[in-house]
Amino acid sequence: MCYLPGFDCGACGAPTCKSLAEDVAKGNAILSHCVFMQRQMEKHHSLSPEHAFNFIESIWGKDRLDKKCDKKGAINDY
Ligand code: SF4
Repeated sequence: MCYLPGFDCGACGAPTCKSLAEDVAKGNAILSHCVFMQRQMEKHHSLSPEHAFNFIESIWGKDRLDKKCDKKGAINDY
C-alpha cells in the first residue's frame, strides 16, 4: 500500500487501492495497473506510454477510450 496513492478511484479495475495491493500480494495484479503509478513510471522512464495504454486496454477492454457517444453513461444515454 505504501506505493499506491490511496485515491480509491477504481481506474485500475480494483475498487480500492487496498484491493489492488491485496491482488498484487496474491500475484493477481501488478503495481503498474494503477494509473498514477503508471505516470510515475513514465516520468522515470521505466514504462513507455504504449505499454501503459496496453495495461488500460487489458483491464477495461480495447477501444474503451475511443469517442463513442452511444456508450453507457454518455450524454445521450437517457
Ligand atoms: S488506480 Fe491507483 S489510485 Fe485508483 S484505485 Fe487503483 S491503485 Fe488506487
